[in-house]
Amino acid sequence: INILAIESSCDETSAAVVQNGKVLNNIIATQSVHEKYGGVVPELASRAHQQHIVPVVEQALSAANISKKDLKAVAFTQGPGLLGALLVGSSFAKSLASALQIPLIGVNHMQAHILAHFIEEPKPKFPFLCLTVSGGHTQIVKVNDYLDMEILGETRDDAVGEAFDKIAKIIGLPYPGGPMIDKHAKKGNHEAFQFPETEMPGFNYSFSGIKTAVLYFLQNNSQKDPDFVSDNLDDICASVQHRLIMTLLQKLKKASKHTGIKEIAIAGGVSANSYLRKMLAETGEELNWNTYIPKFEYCTDNAGMIAMTAHFKYQKQEFLGMDAAPIPRMKFSVEKDK
Ligand code: ATP
Ligand code: MG
Ligand code: FE
Repeated sequence: INILAIESSCDETSAAVVQNGKVLNNIIATQSVHEKYGGVVPELASRAHQQHIVPVVEQALSAANISKKDLKAVAFTQGPGLLGALLVGSSFAKSLASALQIPLIGVNHMQAHILAHFIEEPKPKFPFLCLTVSGGHTQIVKVNDYLDMEILGETRDDAVGEAFDKIAKIIGLPYPGGPMIDKHAKKGNHEAFQFPETEMPGFNYSFSGIKTAVLYFLQNNSQKDPDFVSDNLDDICASVQHRLIMTLLQKLKKASKHTGIKEIAIAGGVSANSYLRKMLAETGEELNWNTYIPKFEYCTDNAGMIAMTAHFKYQKQEFLGMDAAPIPRMKFSVEKDK
C-alpha cells in the first residue's frame, strides 16, 4: 500500500511516500524568500508552495519508484497552519485523490510532529510524554496511542521557537534565529547573564516575558557600551538559550513526576536545538527516563511525518470527504481536559 503525503502548512513544501508503514523518502523544498523579511510572509509562502508542489510530488514518486496509479490514498496537512499555505496542499491533494478515485486523508500537523517518532527505531512505548516545541507551539502532550493524545500543558503566549526567533532578531541575528542562537551559544558561557523566568501554573509556559527582558537588558547595556552586543554575543546567546531550555525541562520533569511516565520524547523544530538534546539526555539519565529525539530531518517541517500519520489513519480508515477544508487552528482530533 502506497500513500502520498503533502505538507504545506508554513514555509516548507514537502512530499513523501509511505509504503506499508515504511516512509520511503522525504522531499523538502525550503522557501528562502522569507529570509530578507525576517519572518514568514503568508502571501509569499502560498506562491512558493504553488511553484514547488508539482516538482516536489514528482520527486517523491520517482524516488519511491512508483507512479500515481500505484497510490492507494493521498494525505495532506489539514492544519494548524497558514490558511493560504494549507490551501495549496489541500487543493492539490483533493484533485489528485478525486482524479485517481482514491481516499483522502487529513493530518493534524502537531500530531504528525509527534508521530515522526515512529518513522525509525527506537520508537517510544505508550503511554509516553512528548514535549512538542516548534515555531508556533509549545506543548506537553500525553500520548496514549497513535491517534489518542491529550495536551497536559502549553504556552499561554509565545511559542518557544517564536521566542528564539524574536530574541535573535533583537540581538541582530538573521532569520530564522533559533539555529543562530544555538550556534553562538556553543561558544558562550550560559552563566554570564541571568534572565528572569515567568512562573506559570500547572504544566503551562509563558515566553513573552523573557523577550522583553532581553530587549531592555540589551538597550541598557548598549547605551553604556555601543559594542556590548558584539563583544558578548556568544555569552548572551548561551544565557538566553539556557533560560529557555531549562524552563522547558522543568515543566517536563513536573509532568513526568505527576503522571509517573518515564518514556519521554521531544518533537518539533526546536528539538533540533543541541542544548535541549544535551540537557534532555542528562536529565533522562539522572531520572531514569527513556528519552527519544527524532532524527534532524524529521524535527522541522517535513512530509515524512505526515506520511507516517497517514499510515495510522489509513489503518483506521479515517478518510475525509472531498468537501474537506483546511483548518488553520486545528486541534487534536482527540482532545481531553479542554
Ligand atoms: P508549528 O509546527 O508550530 O506549526 P513551524 O512548523 O513553523 O510551527 P517548525 O518548522 O517545526 O515550526 O520549527 C521551526 C522553529 O524551530 C523555528 O522557530 C526555528 O527557529 C526553530 N529551530 C530550528 N532549529 C533550532 C535550533 N537549533 N535551536 C533553536 N531553535 C531552532
Ligand atoms: Mg518551518
Ligand atoms: Fe511544524
